[in-house]
Amino acid sequence: MKASLAKEVNRIAGLITLAAVAALAVGHIWPLLAGLVGYIFWSTRQLFALYSWLVRDDHTEPPDSIGLWGEFYTRLEHLFQKERRAQETLQGIIHRAQQSVNALEDVVILIDQHGYLEYWNLSAERYMGFNAGQDLGQPLTNLVRHPRFTDYLHEGDFKEPLEIPSPVDDNRILQFRVTEFGVGEQLIMARDVTRLHHLEQMRKDFVANVSHELKTPLTVLKGYLETLLDTVPEEQARLRRALSQMESQSNRMEALVTDLLLLSRLENTDADNDRQAVAVHGMLNRMRENALAISADKQHVIELEVPDDARLVANPAELESAFGNLITNAVKYTPANGHIRINWWQDDKGAHLSVTDNGLGIDPAHIPRLTERFYRPDNSRVTQTGGTGLGLAIVKHVMIRHGGRLEIKSQLGQGSTFTCHFPIDRLVNKPTAVAG
Ligand code: ADP
Repeated sequence: MKASLAKEVNRIAGLITLAAVAALAVGHIWPLLAGLVGYIFWSTRQLFALYSWLVRDDHTEPPDSIGLWGEFYTRLEHLFQKERRAQETLQGIIHRAQQSVNALEDVVILIDQHGYLEYWNLSAERYMGFNAGQDLGQPLTNLVRHPRFTDYLHEGDFKEPLEIPSPVDDNRILQFRVTEFGVGEQLIMARDVTRLHHLEQMRKDFVANVSHELKTPLTVLKGYLETLLDTVPEEQARLRRALSQMESQSNRMEALVTDLLLLSRLENTDADNDRQAVAVHGMLNRMRENALAISADKQHVIELEVPDDARLVANPAELESAFGNLITNAVKYTPANGHIRINWWQDDKGAHLSVTDNGLGIDPAHIPRLTERFYRPDNSRVTQTGGTGLGLAIVKHVMIRHGGRLEIKSQLGQGSTFTCHFPIDRLVNKPTAVAG
């Protein structure tokens, strides 16, 4: 470039010298002027040629030129070539990425920060019914109108996946996962879990059916055992002991069957059946009385702090089950003369029920798994208390069905606090009377 610049300077200097000599020879300035005008005219033509070449789309075959202008064109053409190659490479990458995303069996959808569709793959057309010609730029919730899907996106809590039927085929179950990226954009992936769903449903049906079928034989067995216990004379102590053990084990089995049936009902029925404004004070008061009766000789102190007007929109039977399990557990796992506190309070987040005891407590390492069916941190407790191992699983399900959650805090040997958190939309009386 430097050499071409020097040549161009030489060319201009030569032209001026020539024009000056000519001007001196003819004794007039016009040869000098003609030289300058000529140079300006030529340069302007080059500029125009450059402009029309630049505004062309292809930028190949630059106009012929000499000197600095020629060098200019060659360099610009190289630059354009480089950019073209980079663009082609990029387009190739995008094309391959699109091809592989299209080959995926899973649905892939991209939406912008306003929830409008930006991109989807072929599986999305198959499973979601999206139409390439019409749906680009449409709000996703206009195309997938399932209320649970709309709520899921609206609430923005994507820790757990969502399962709903495909918008184009009710028999196909899709599991959605949402990943947020960029500024409010979302990558939504869905996969077909119909088979898993059916297997899960078969498992649930099996448990429900077995539990149901066990009910009748158990009732018959229990009836006979009761009659036998009434008729076997006191002198036959060994037989009586055996019969009473059989009776207590059949009671335990009955409790198991009842809890299993309750759990399958919680899993299989619509969460919103039998919604009522439940008077919590009366319910908890009754439960306190029951707990005192179960405590009996253990002489627990059971305190209750609930505002008289506490009301919750809930399914009363489910609520009773959940609260009952927590309070019974507190009695079961707190040694004699222990303290149990039942508190109810409301705040701007919702309503809360806590059951605190100063009993055996639980090693915090077990807490994350405590609501799993039959999970017990300490099996020796089972034989002592005769629980079913399903109580906390029931509480967790009831809480999920009420849009709430169960929080567990405990230390081994120092007691536990189980708190049920209900969302604000479940409150009948907004937070005024606060206690606890
Ligand atoms: P279970 O029928 O065994 O009581 P749950 O599901 O109600 O079944 O409880 C699971 C386990 O959690 C219990 O076996 C017990 O070890 C522990 N647990 C529950 N509540 C308490 C509590 N208040 N204090 C100490 N441990 C508890």
